[in-house]
Parts: sequence; C-alpha cells; structure tokens
Amino acid sequence: MSIRTKTILGIAVIEIALLMVLTFYAMSFLSQSNEKQLIQRANGAATMFSHAAKNAVLSTDLATLNDLIDEFIQLEDVAYVRVLRNGREMAHAGDKDLLARQMIEDRSLDDVSDGIFDVRVPISVGTTEFATVDIGFETAPISAMLSEAKQAIIAIASIEVVLVALFSFVLGTYLTRSLTRLATAAHTLGQSGPGFQLNDQRPDELGDVARAFDSMSAKLEKDYIDLNTARADAEQASSSKSRFLASMSHEIRTPMNGVLGILNILEETNLTKEQQKLVNTATESGHFLLSVINDILDFTRMESNTLILENRPFDLHRCITSVTDSFYPTARAQGLVLHCYIEPSVPVMVLGDKNRVKQILLNLIGNAVKFTHEGSIRIHVSSTASEGTHATIKCEISDTGIGISKNAIDYLFDEFTMVDQSYSRSKEGSGLGLAICKRLCNLMDGDVNVQSEPDVGSTFAFTIQLELANEESSTSESNENTKTAVRDDLAILVAEDNKANQLVIKEMFKRLNLKIDIAENGHQAVNQVKQYNYDLIFMDISMPEMDGIQACQAIRAMPDARSASTPIVALTAHSLAGDKEKFLACGMDDYISKPLRLSQLVEKIDLFTNKSIAKATQASEDTSIVNMQQDVTLTDEALMPNMDTHPIEKDTIDLELVDEAILQQMIEDTSADVIPLLIDHYLEESHQRLEKIYLAMDNKDKETLEFEAHTLGSSSLALGNRSLSNIARKIEHQCLDGQCQLAFELKEELQQVANDSLEALEQRKMKGFTESTK
Ligand code: ADP
Repeated sequence: MSIRTKTILGIAVIEIALLMVLTFYAMSFLSQSNEKQLIQRANGAATMFSHAAKNAVLSTDLATLNDLIDEFIQLEDVAYVRVLRNGREMAHAGDKDLLARQMIEDRSLDDVSDGIFDVRVPISVGTTEFATVDIGFETAPISAMLSEAKQAIIAIASIEVVLVALFSFVLGTYLTRSLTRLATAAHTLGQSGPGFQLNDQRPDELGDVARAFDSMSAKLEKDYIDLNTARADAEQASSSKSRFLASMSHEIRTPMNGVLGILNILEETNLTKEQQKLVNTATESGHFLLSVINDILDFTRMESNTLILENRPFDLHRCITSVTDSFYPTARAQGLVLHCYIEPSVPVMVLGDKNRVKQILLNLIGNAVKFTHEGSIRIHVSSTASEGTHATIKCEISDTGIGISKNAIDYLFDEFTMVDQSYSRSKEGSGLGLAICKRLCNLMDGDVNVQSEPDVGSTFAFTIQLELANEESSTSESNENTKTAVRDDLAILVAEDNKANQLVIKEMFKRLNLKIDIAENGHQAVNQVKQYNYDLIFMDISMPEMDGIQACQAIRAMPDARSASTPIVALTAHSLAGDKEKFLACGMDDYISKPLRLSQLVEKIDLFTNKSIAKATQASEDTSIVNMQQDVTLTDEALMPNMDTHPIEKDTIDLELVDEAILQQMIEDTSADVIPLLIDHYLEESHQRLEKIYLAMDNKDKETLEFEAHTLGSSSLALGNRSLSNIARKIEHQCLDGQCQLAFELKEELQQVANDSLEALEQRKMKGFTESTK
C-alpha cells in the first residue's frame, strides 16, 4: 500500500471516528436538554393549570373549568387535557383517541412510545387531594428538531471528512511524488553511476532534501571518476610491469641459453684449474639467473591468470620419487639424511599437471636442502581424503634446518620474500618460490602452510586435489611415450623428395599408427591425388620436376571437386617473411616449418580431418622444469644449445656440429632405432648434395646452388648439424639476395664445416641411441 493511500486512509479513519463520537455526544446532549425542557415545561404548565383550575374543581364550576381547558388546549404542543375527580372525568378537551386510551404517566422521553408525553398533577388542598389533571404534550416537534439537528451535524461531518480526505490526498500526492522522484533518482544513480541530478528548486524541506541529494551525487561522481582514473592507472602500471617482466624475461632467457651453451663448449676446451673454476661459477650463476627468470615469468603468468594447468594422466609416485631422487647427491654432499615415504593409500595414477606438481616439490625440497646444514629432511606423502573421482594429496616436507621466526611466517608466502637472516641471505633465491608454490597449490584446489621454530626446523605442508585416473588413462601415460594412437582410417599423402625426410615422416606416422603414401615429387603427388581420395596432403615445397606450389595449383585446378579441395599443408624449410602468405595464396591451407615435429603433424591432422589424435603427443615427461618453461619448440630460433639436459655428449662432440637436443627430439618423435638409419641416409645424401653444391659454385650456377643449399640447410638441421645448416642457409639467402658472388666464395668454409659436421655426426652415431637418453 502506498504512503499516499496510507495517509489518506489513516486521516479518514481518525476523522470519521472522532466525528462519530462528536455527533453522538452532540445528539445525546441535544436530546437530553430538550427532554429536560419538555419535562420542565410540561410539569410547569400542568402545575399552573391545576392551580388555575383548583377553585372551579372545588366548586364544581364546570363552565369555568371547560373555559380553562379550552384555553389551555390552545397552547402549542398540548394534545389533550382532562380533569378527573374521584376517578370520574369532570371536563376534557383535545384528541379523542388520546383521551380514550389508558393514561400512563411518563417520567422521561424514553417512556414515550406514542408521541405524547403524559403528565398527571394533583389538585389538592393541604394534604387532601380532590382531583387530578392529566395533560398530554406532543413530543413530535422535539423529535423533528432533534432529527434536523442530527442531519445537519452529519452533513457538516461528511463535508469535513471529504475536505480532509481531499487535503490529505493532495498532501500525500505532493509528499509521495517527491519521495518517488528521490527514489527514482537513487535507482538511476545505482544503475548508471553517480552524477544524476534532480534540479529541484522548491523552497521547502523537500527541496532541501533534493538539493542535498544533488550535491551528494555530484561529489560521488567526482570521487568515482577519480577512483576510475586511479584504477586505470594502477591497472596500466600493473600490466606494463607484467609486460615488462615477461618481455625482459624472454629477452634475457634467449641469450642466456646461448651463454650457457657457450660456457658448456668452453668447459670442454683445455682450461687451467683457475679458468675451469671461473667457467663453473659462470655456469652456476647463469643457471641461477635462468631459474629466477623462469620464476618471474611464472609469477607474471599467474598474476595475469594466463597460467593454464595441464590435465594429463601421470604416475604420482614416480613424479615424487624422481624429484626426491634428484636431491640425493646434494643432500649426501651436505651430510644430510633425505628420506621420502609415500603412504600406500596415495593413488598411483592421477590426472593433473605433473610438471607443476614437480615444481612445488622442487621448490619446497630445494629450500629444505638449502636451509638445512645438518640433520635430515623427511618427505611424507599421504592421501587425506579420496572422494569419488578426486583425491586430496598431502605432502609434508620437514627439515632440521635454521627454521623461520614467527613474525616472518606471516609474510613468507608473499612474493619476493626472503627472511632476513644472515644464513638465508647467504643463499641464492628470488623470494618467489613460495609465492609460486602457494598459487600453484591454490590452482590445484589446495594450499600450503608452514610450521617452524628457529634453530629447530621447519615443516612445509601442502595439499592439492588431483583427479583419479581411470584404467584407460592409466595406460595412456605410457602410450604418450610411445606416441601411438589407434587410427588407421585416414588417407594421407606426403610429397617429399628427401629420403631422410621420408624416413623421418614415415617413422612419425608409424608412431601415430597411420599409414601414408609418399610421393617423390610434385608430379607423383598430382597423379596420386587423381587416383585416390586423400583426407590430407603434406606437401614439401622444394622438389625436383614439379615443386610443391605447382603441384598444389595443379590439384586445386582438378575437375573433381573432392580432389581439388583436399586440404594441403606445406612442409617447408623456408622461413622468410612473406613465405606463409605466398603458400596460402597459391591454395595451400596451412604450413609447417621444418625440422618437423610430431606434435605439429598431429595438430594439423586434428585441424584438417576433425579426427582427434591429439593425445598422441606430449613433450617428454622428464623434460626438466626449466625446459618446460621455455616452451621448447624446435624451430630454428629455439634450438639453442643446452647441453645441461644432455650430459651424455659433453665430453666429445662440438655442440654446433651436432646438436644433441635435436637428436633427442628426433628420437622422441620417431624412435631410437631409426636414428642410425636416418643418419646413414642423410650422410649419403649430403655427400652427393655437397658435390653438386661445389660444382654449382665452381660453375657459378646460382639456381642449382640455391636449391641444393636450401635442401642441405633443412636436412642438416633436422639431424643436428647446426653449423652446416647455418652456412647452407647463408649461401641460400645470399643467392636469393643476389649476392651470389659472396655465396660462391664460401666454398672453402663450407667444405670445412661440412667435413667436420658429417664426421661428428658419424662419431655420434657410433655411440648409439636410446629412448631414455633424455
Ligand atoms: P627463495 O628463492 O629465496 O628460496 P622462497 O620463496 O622459496 O624464495 O623462500 C623465501 C624465503 O623463505 C627464503 O629466502 C628463506 O628465508 C625462507 N625459507 C623457505 N624455506 C625455508 C626452510 N625450509 N627453512 C628455513 N627458511 C626457509
């Protein structure tokens, strides 16, 4: 009910009630005073008459008595008069009917039922009563007067009620309209932000309220704008900071990898003891710098919510033991006991981000080792709850180290926190590790906390929720390593002239359980497309007789719509700006740059056939966290030497001549067995190709030189002959840039690099390859 209705109703009810009471009292007062008057008048008139008639009654003078009665009856309101003596009527006048009825004296108006107020007075002398006089007075005039008065009062009261209702309606409307405006204004303010103005100029209290509202709204608007500006500035600053950190980290990381690679090479040269020490320190510092940069990158990703966790099946027990195992040598060297116990109830196969779980463990166990100089480090893993599809894993890492003071614990998990103790200060650290751990745990629906006592030790405990892997996914982790996916219903054509590349591609598809057709050149590819319906074609660009671009155009021009629209993905070692556009313009759907990666093939198969075999690829599970954070893809740029992850080759082979990382990637994408074969193919082809190149250089045959150098560049990079690939690329680009003379002059250098590279690769082949080298 609106305020207006309530006001009107309230006022009306009170008004009506009061008026009713007033009317009632006025009426009863009027009737009482009239009754009193009537009774007094009746009694007075009757008494006067009895006195006047006394003598006539006593002397039985009927004539005089009748005269008196006749005169009396003339009086207003007198209905009848009767004189009785000894019960007999002496004289009477007035209404016959009234005289005929039994007379009962009335004491008050209430006794009157017939409209006549009956009065009886005695005529007596001394105490002796001689006769009685009955007189009837009409009450109708009084009743009429009372009823008139009643009507008048009711009419006045009604008019008043109406007037009051009208006034309260107007007042209510006025008040509520102002309130409604105020409410609407507040609503608008809530919806579209502060600033809305009522602009009410009324000079009353409501106007004051409206003006107060306007000034509040204006003030709020100003504060709101100030706040928004401040927030935008803060966001801008924060995002610039994140961008700066991310780009600086990238910028530093790339050359840092190079520096570390060079340090590795330097380590292999003849160094004095002093130089060796310096190189070791530089390497250590480099690795530390890399880990700090990776921490910063991780942290900026978490801050901007761009860190996405993987959800793949993995062996949790293996994950934990592999991390703890990696600390045994350091712990032993420091004289520490390192013990890890995994309760049997902890699930083995789980779904989650294994590398991030490892990262948490590496941080916490690493800190324990770092901040403990004697005693032990104990790792206890339990599964606190296992509800349906998920398990909560709890891991406690207790050490007998320096401990942490109570007040430091409060901000320990904040970023860039390093407890300011001399011991802690003497240890390297970015102060980001625990902050990252906390965020990672939170991302996995868990948390991390610490209990510690200075000089006694610390216990870091973290919980994470992991999905339990079902039987099917339990086996898929091992499948990931062998990279098999059961799909044999795809028809794929690969056009590639290079034998070594053919072998690589065949092996990769073997891992996917897919059979492919190989075309040796563009012509063959076009013919095969004419004969068979392929789901997808991978097309090398540089091929003899007909290159990939021409073959693509020929396929697109085929009359059969299905063949003409077969998706074609270019395989190219070309990586010049504008190349991609060129391939797409000639009708290709996409392109992959060489050296090929299994994951790239799978991605394109998924994309163009809508038949997902994506599970088949995953970076090797034991790739270190550092590698993982580097988003390693074996593009030319990313293939920075990083011997640290491949210590097997440190001792003998020059990193630039044979890049072990590339070989390992090749093993991962194909198989260890096929690598020697691949190398044989490559060596044979390369010798022939080099002969052609030398000849072309001698004959100043630019076209052949450009073509063969291009092929050599890509095939040598595929097998890790990085230097050879670089010089071949250089020659190719010089030919393309019209600087052929410079290219021809590189013959000697090429011969030198080629001999060294091919020999180094041959040597490497002798050492053999295993799947687990990585
Ligand atoms: P940092 O990279 O410096 O180790 P963290 O975030 O991992 O960064 O750790 C922050 C600080 O917490 C450390 O510098 C150290 O002072 C303290 N701390 C962490 N773990 C331990 C531990 N097990 N014992 C004593 N102090 C620790």
